Amino acid sequence: MNPRHEILLIEDERNICNFIVTTLKTQDYKVDFAVNAVSGLSLAASGCPDLILLDLGLPDMDGIEVIRNIREWSNVPIIVISARTQEKEKVEALDAGADDYITKPFGTSELMARIRTALRRSALSGSTPLSAQNKYTAKDLVIDYEKHIVTVNGEIVHFTQIEYKILTYLSRNAGKVITYDSLITHVWGPFADSNNRILRVNMANIRRKLENNPADPQYILTEIGIGYRMIDNENL
Ligand code: CA
Repeated sequence: MNPRHEILLIEDERNICNFIVTTLKTQDYKVDFAVNAVSGLSLAASGCPDLILLDLGLPDMDGIEVIRNIREWSNVPIIVISARTQEKEKVEALDAGADDYITKPFGTSELMARIRTALRRSALSGSTPLSAQNKYTAKDLVIDYEKHIVTVNGEIVHFTQIEYKILTYLSRNAGKVITYDSLITHVWGPFADSNNRILRVNMANIRRKLENNPADPQYILTEIGIGYRMIDNENL
């Protein structure tokens, strides 16, 4: 079980707030909560939580503003809770510095998995960040960053430079949603056309080489309308 990580929940809906607080306590997390942005920000500053769960639809301030405010002084992982299915808002939250999002209604196991991933990523960045590791391993896939070699089931798979760049960026951020725009900017540079057609073409090629069934990908998952998430090896 977790060594008493402290989680701050900022959520104005009482039912959801109670549900999450109860769930987290059952899982042995320490929990603090606020029902509006102003008190949430003040608790974030005074309590130094290990992770923040943030509802985007708060009565006193736009959730995106809350993220921007926190990011001015802290790298604490932020998982956004969004009732709305609007992709634009989630993309905006991720680009403002949120680490992940979860859409209402969500199940306990999904919430717990997201929290574990975010906490693990943040712990790693304090010791050996993912970006400094030599290898990515998940299921049958190994990416050796030093040798620039990708193997699936021990067999070397060849990728173009662009494909390898995409793969590297996603795997270095495994477990995290990467928006189309940030991926395009990273691979093609800040002046690239934000039309994601060329990205989709490359992704199709990567999946064809990587996946058993490209229509049902195991390694690189699509977050529709938002971006991609490469699976995170829970045993890292
Ligand atoms: Ca709300």
